[in-house]
Amino acid sequence: MQLVGLLGGTFNPIHYGHLRMAQELADALNLSAVRFIPAANPPHKPAPEVSAGHRAAIVELAICNNPLFKLDTCELTRTGASYTFDTLVSLRKELGENVALCWMMGSDAFVKLNTWHRWRELLNHCHIVLVQRPVAENQPKLSDELTTFLQDHYTENMDDLSEKSAGYIHMQAIPPLDISATKIREQLKASRSPRYLLPDNVLEYIATHKLYT
Ligand code: ATP
Repeated sequence: MQLVGLLGGTFNPIHYGHLRMAQELADALNLSAVRFIPAANPPHKPAPEVSAGHRAAIVELAICNNPLFKLDTCELTRTGASYTFDTLVSLRKELGENVALCWMMGSDAFVKLNTWHRWRELLNHCHIVLVQRPVAENQPKLSDELTTFLQDHYTENMDDLSEKSAGYIHMQAIPPLDISATKIREQLKASRSPRYLLPDNVLEYIATHKLYT
């Protein structure tokens, strides 16, 4: 079965942490494509000051030279909170049952998974592929509930992911990059340069549209 990677995020803005993670997993798991899915109205974060349209535009710029990477704006066309569960249901309708969907996420996102809408049912529609993110000092520990969820669905063997279309959690080691959108926004606000943490064409777009000032 073909494997399609899915990377949802606020992308406020997109940076090399996202892009390297997607590339590392594409290579390691032999993904046939990676879809970048900007959240229009992220349910777990304060409303981004930069519009979903701008955030999607910079994702498109960042991935424009990679034929494996695609922008998916499905969450921009829905109203209300951007629930991953709804996104997965619509992706399943679009792509059918004969493709394995791999929802990729950093460890910081996984520790909060049990706050997501219908979180246990996500695995009916996709696998979850985790990467370790450099640990923030204040990062919460994995709850008992999530530890059990992880143990119940965990596979060490990446070949399992192509055996069925959904249902596993897999962890993949990748070289960690300590880059976050929060730090980039702070640098831009303080008139310091985040150059080399994100693509130049993204920085140019940010400057042209006077974002994050
Ligand atoms: P913010 O700092 O605004 O919270 P962020 O940099 O964490 O943003 P998101 O758009 O929220 O970026 O992240 C989307 C997904 O990408 C999440 O699953 C997150 O864990 C993952 N991710 C973000 N940055 C990295 C990184 N440097 N390495 C690995 N995964 C990352």
